[in-house]
Order: sequence, then C-alpha cells, then structure tokens
Amino acid sequence: MEEISQNVDMDFIKTRAYIARHSYIENMENKLAAFEKRMLNKNFNVFWADNEASLVELVYQLLPDKIYNKVCFDLPHIPEEFNNTKKIKKIPIVEVENGKQSASVLFTQADFGVLETGTLVLLNKRSKNCFNLIPNIFILLDISKLIDKISDLEMLLYLKSYSQNQEFLPEDVKIINRPIKRVVKTKIQQEGEFNMQDVPVTIFLYDNGVTEILKDNILRTSLYCIDCGKCRTVCPIYQYEKSKEFSPIELVKANCFARNRITGDLFSRTLLCGNCVPVCPIQIPITDLLIREMELSKKQIPSTLAKIFVRRKKLNKMSKPFQRYFFLRKLYGKNKMLLSYFKQQPSTFFNIKWLQEHPDDE
Ligand code: SF4
Repeated sequence: MEEISQNVDMDFIKTRAYIARHSYIENMENKLAAFEKRMLNKNFNVFWADNEASLVELVYQLLPDKIYNKVCFDLPHIPEEFNNTKKIKKIPIVEVENGKQSASVLFTQADFGVLETGTLVLLNKRSKNCFNLIPNIFILLDISKLIDKISDLEMLLYLKSYSQNQEFLPEDVKIINRPIKRVVKTKIQQEGEFNMQDVPVTIFLYDNGVTEILKDNILRTSLYCIDCGKCRTVCPIYQYEKSKEFSPIELVKANCFARNRITGDLFSRTLLCGNCVPVCPIQIPITDLLIREMELSKKQIPSTLAKIFVRRKKLNKMSKPFQRYFFLRKLYGKNKMLLSYFKQQPSTFFNIKWLQEHPDDE
C-alpha cells in the first residue's frame, strides 16, 4: 500500500473524478432515461420515487404479501412509516445469515449505478451474505449516484475508500449486473442436485430532492458528492455537536430541500472555516455552496453577514489567542448566536486540521 500511495498522483485522480461527476450530473436527465431502459432490458424492475412518501407507497404495492412481510433492511435511513406498520416485520440481518429466521424481502441501497454497463455497485453492505438467501431484492439508488463509464468506477471507489479509511479499495464490493439467482431445496431433490431460482431485483430510482437542487447552477455541484464522509471528520461543528445531524455537505443539501430554508440551522451549523474544502476528494467548494444558501436566504438575513462569514477562513490562519479574540469581536460581535457558540467551545481553536498539525500549540 505504501508503495502504491507514493506512485499515486492524487491531484490527477481528483481532477478526473470531478470531470466524471460533472459529466453525469450536468446531463442527468437524458442519462437517467438511458439507464432505466438498460436496466429494464436486463429484466430488472425499475420504479421512480420522488420522495419518501412515494417510496413508502411503492414499497407497499410491491411487497409480496398484503398483510405480513418479513423484511430485512440494510439502509442508512429506514423510513419512519416502516416502524409503525403491521405490513412489515423487520428481520435482523444476522438472523437471516445464521438461518434462524427467513425474510421475504431484502431492502438495501446501491452506492453507484453505471450507465454504460447497467451495473449496480454496493459497497460494504452488512447484508452481503444474504443476497442468495432472500427471494426478493429491493435496491434504492439515489439518482445523483450514477456514473457514465465503468472505467470511472475504480477511481471513485479508490477515492471514496481512501477518504474513509486510507485503504485503496472498499473491503467488500458487490457488483450486480443481472437479476440474481439463488439455490432452493425441493422435496424431490436427489443428492448432489439443486434447483436455481431467479431472484427478482427491483430498483427504486430515488429523487428525494435531487431535481430541486439541479435547478440551481451553483448548488448542483453538491450532487457531485460520493458520500465519502471526509468533510464531516474535519468539521468543527459536526464534531462538537451532539446530534451529529448534518455534515457540511448534508447541510447544503438539507437546506435545498427545506421549503423555507433553514436559516437558523445554517448560522448555527457552519463557521465557514473552510476545513472541508481541501479534504473533499471531488473538490466540491462546500463553503461557496453554504454562502450561496445564505444569499438565497437574504430575505431573513442581511446579505452582508454572508461576507462576514467568508472572513472566518482567516481565523484558521491565526495562531495567537489575542489575534483571534480581536478578530472575533470585530466580525462577530453583533451576532449573539455565533458569539455564544464561540464562547461555549472547549478550546481556543476549532480548526481540527490545524490542531493536528500543531499539537504543541493547543
Ligand atoms: S462533500 Fe464531503 S462526503 Fe461528499 S465527497 Fe466531498 S468530502 Fe466526501
């Protein structure tokens, strides 16, 4: 690994990754239609879900039984509705793996879809051993997570994995190119014989606000994100906040989705310190996107405040406490919310990257 890392031109890879994401996001509409066609030709079932409510409705329609369905979820976020219905009984993945319980549906999420080959890519799934044990597979695919070419896949996997754990490839990569087959036992089965059964794979192309973000020429860059999570590891507010609700990029996206932009959250959840920008493997200008959100919220907030936030970047460069004190007082003195935020912080410096680089100065 050491040897590989020395030979990797990271800037070149990041630029290629940016171009790959740009190429798909900027022509998403046509490419999505082509992807749908390709998947249908391969005998996948394909459905579109605009938002969580329509996703839930579709799932109810497609569940194999009307009343009681054993569903194994492997999703980062399970819609609340599925916790409160008698139509679904949640089965833990481990129970299916161990053969203690069966499930009629596995519901999971793809990390990427590849347009060129009609491929679904699933990374490090907890349910990786269950795909041949369950007779129906539902796969959610965020419509912003497609890529044009299979040759771009390795590069994006590399960047995502390296940002997460300094490894060059994810531990587990599951590629689905066609509906899955599974082995089933029958009563008349002789020794050494087995039957194969097709497992239908249903894909939900999930919008969930993506097309809303696409309408804004600047904010659409947030859709280039590959969910590596790196920006959250360097975000001072995310690190100190107990709820850990929004990483920097999630804050941008969540704000786009909100009908009345969550201006209060914006101001309490970002210092525009700029820590997230240099670590983003896709080079998304996250602070610019947050400033754009503030500009769009200018009905409630004086636009000059956005400019003041930009100066927050300068704070990162200040190593002397008195310099910081006067800087903060001058720029944020009128903003009580921010001032109290600064006062509550456990240490003088909030720039984690700076702290790591200067451990003796803490
Ligand atoms: S925005 Fe954040 S999560 Fe998305 S690719 Fe950049 S660093 Fe990773």
